[in-house]
Amino acid sequence: MRAIRRFTVRPVLPDALASLGELAANLRWSWHPPTQALFEEIDAELWHAVGHDPLRLLGEVSGARWAELAADPAYVGRVADVRAGLASYLTDDRWYQRARAAQPDATWPASIAYFSPEFGITAVLPQYSGGLGILAGDHLKAASDLGVPIVGVGLLYRHGYFKQSLSHEGWQQESYPVLDPDELPLSLLHDEEGTRATIAIRMPDGPDLLARIWVASVGRVPLLLLDTDIEENPEPYRLITDRLYGGNTEHRLRQELLLGVGGVRALRLHARITGAPEPEVFHTNEGHAGFLGVERIRELTAGGDVDFATALEAGRASTVFTTHTPVPAGIDRFPRSLVEQYLGDHGATPGVAVDQVLALGAEDYDGGDPGVFNMAVMGFRLAQRANGVSQLHGHVSRGMFNGLWPAFDEAEVPITSITNGVHAPTWVAPEVAALAEAQGGDYDGDDVEAFWAAFAKVPGPDVWRTKRALRGRLVDDARRRLRKSWERRGAAPAELGWIDEALDPDVLTIGFARRVPSYKRLTLMLRDPGRLKALLLHPERPVQLVVAGKAHPADDGGKRLIQELVRFADAEDVRHRIVFLPNYDIALAQPLYPGCDVWLNNPLRPYEACGTSGMKAALNGGLNLSILDGWWDEWYEPEFGWPIPSADGPVLAGDPDKRDDLEAAALYDLIETEVAPRFYDVDHEGVPGRWIEMLRHTWASLGPKVLATRMVRDYVAQLYAPAAHNARQLAAQPDGARTLASWKARVRGAWPGVRVEHVEAEGIGDVAEVGAVLHVHSYVALGELSPSDVAVQIVHGRVDADDDIVDTELAPMRLVESYDGGRHRFDGEVPLGRSGPFGYTVRVLPANPLLVAPAELGVVALA
Ligand SMILES: *Cc1c(COP(=O)(O)O)cnc(C)c1O
Repeated sequence: MRAIRRFTVRPVLPDALASLGELAANLRWSWHPPTQALFEEIDAELWHAVGHDPLRLLGEVSGARWAELAADPAYVGRVADVRAGLASYLTDDRWYQRARAAQPDATWPASIAYFSPEFGITAVLPQYSGGLGILAGDHLKAASDLGVPIVGVGLLYRHGYFKQSLSHEGWQQESYPVLDPDELPLSLLHDEEGTRATIAIRMPDGPDLLARIWVASVGRVPLLLLDTDIEENPEPYRLITDRLYGGNTEHRLRQELLLGVGGVRALRLHARITGAPEPEVFHTNEGHAGFLGVERIRELTAGGDVDFATALEAGRASTVFTTHTPVPAGIDRFPRSLVEQYLGDHGATPGVAVDQVLALGAEDYDGGDPGVFNMAVMGFRLAQRANGVSQLHGHVSRGMFNGLWPAFDEAEVPITSITNGVHAPTWVAPEVAALAEAQGGDYDGDDVEAFWAAFAKVPGPDVWRTKRALRGRLVDDARRRLRKSWERRGAAPAELGWIDEALDPDVLTIGFARRVPSYKRLTLMLRDPGRLKALLLHPERPVQLVVAGKAHPADDGGKRLIQELVRFADAEDVRHRIVFLPNYDIALAQPLYPGCDVWLNNPLRPYEACGTSGMKAALNGGLNLSILDGWWDEWYEPEFGWPIPSADGPVLAGDPDKRDDLEAAALYDLIETEVAPRFYDVDHEGVPGRWIEMLRHTWASLGPKVLATRMVRDYVAQLYAPAAHNARQLAAQPDGARTLASWKARVRGAWPGVRVEHVEAEGIGDVAEVGAVLHVHSYVALGELSPSDVAVQIVHGRVDADDDIVDTELAPMRLVESYDGGRHRFDGEVPLGRSGPFGYTVRVLPANPLLVAPAELGVVALA
């Protein structure tokens, strides 16, 4: 019988143990093993049965067990200690507060809003699909650990992403279990009177769209999740937050309106109700939340005395846009007509002219499509600061989006990079951290380098014993999952005896887990099945492979790859050495990384913007075996693992088959001749000394770099604080943003009159010696602009055979004299420090202390 309504009855805990409810309500438990241990102690079997979900656990403990625990002073004492620990974690000064006290004159934003369509925090809050979500979760957790005042903004999806299982034939099956928010670690935002806080968005034809706001407590960080599944909404609106990355184009647009426009409104409500400071910086991740910039323009222009251009400047100064993928399919594009419909006069942001919105997302550059509205393009136009997520990705993004700044070389496209990181307390097995703690490393201490350096002192046998235990745990978990999967696939228990022997805790274990878009090449390892089989079944030096990954439900190509892999792994002769584990999620990932010796990644370079799974493996004593892409391209060292040579040169660009052949052959060779021999090269105690040397180096040198705390500190120093600084500068002057906007308009309007008319040089002839100084005089026409509006520069450097300046450097030129008619002379010098072909030119750029990059206005005048 179907219930007509459902609700959840919350358990009543004994008074002495009431703190357990608070510990369960703050997601800090998910990265705090001592809190998890308290839950496990209640009932270890139940704890595993409920999938390590504290709320479910507390709801299912028997009254008798509660009475027993409440009468146990030792347990009650431990609960009180952990509760006190959480209280000080939530309120004590942390890195951000200490750094601010040490540098009171620097800019420290009072609050930063972090927008993402997905957040991966724990398996019990399944609101993520892959890398972007895991990264967002790690960002919030690291911000919490550092005391950085961030507020997360996202959507609460009724079904999250899908759960993956396999059909008998190995075809991916998707299911969408209903998530009841009352059973999730969330609380509903209420106002002072106890009324549910609700935001409303005007829709083109129909009543306003309403959404309630759930708050997840991620340590110190509140995460606001908007939810339209409420009775006041008509049915179609209730479905807007049904699932992550589902539905058609219009569905996606509605979700993104909710995230961007609704997200800003939710932040305002949250600040008003809780007294939290208003965000000074808005960080938007990928284009999905881009409409937040339009909403902020609406807010500023609503009073009637601020115009669009002024609001745009105010918004841009305080907005950071991070692009996360160089794969074109990963970038949201909508038909212009749809945007016109939802953001027009009767749309979500009334008062903001729809033509101006459309212009923000227009692909009005060479090769652009005039019919589409591009969310990434809007992201760049609405944010004064933008970045990619590794150095290589920054470089690739500058090339990809060069069309937005056509007058500039790729190197000057204003997209910087901050390399991603991972949250160690979430991903590092406690047994691994204990190895360094035994050598005096302080895991919670401020000196991160010292903690990771302590691994260099861990004795080989200790490392090896721990790795064996972790491999063993993975093997147990994999067998359990394999059995469940085969039962679902229709196998009888009598057929599954082999699973007890599947995988071996003493065999070199290679992990490969990630989403399955084509560029990640799940099946590259199957390129030559005979060779793979030989590696798996090698009589002395076998390897075993643990594989996992979900294909997007609409991606049949990806599902075929999974099926191909599953079929290979099903074969009787290899099934004890290669397994595909369905439903890759945080719960599967957590024992997977520590259990692996090698982490394999073979994307098509350069499509892996950063990648983070290899970082998690490295922190757990894993070596990377990877194409030099993303973070691995940046930080690879021979002691950290092996680069798979990539055949990504221009010759093979048009021959993907040949490229796959070459890269797969290189992969097999590396495993056969380098990886396996080193792993099995053991001493009389069974310890592989050289291998362990590599692990120690990886921990000590790579460890501190790949941390999410490093990443968040980089964001604070390089993007958040400078953005808040600019925003405050604009706000400090009565007409700051208006002045900047009108200055920009004036400079753009007058730019056709700006010319470098004549350049003279002295100090050298056709041949110069190192040590000579080149003196340059330039005569520049500025038309209606004055010298203070511009910067004049000598651009110089080595020249190539085409007279192009490469390795460019800049030397400023100073105003020497002004003449009638808006003409001026500027002088500058370049000392010649290097022999070889040298070239220079002179250019004029707009200059204003409130600009971030030379290319910001997109204009330049060259000699
Ligand atoms: C780390 C992680 C990812 C992202 O891994 P990439 O290397 O960035 O592809 C995806 N899913 C889960 C469950 C993860 O833990």
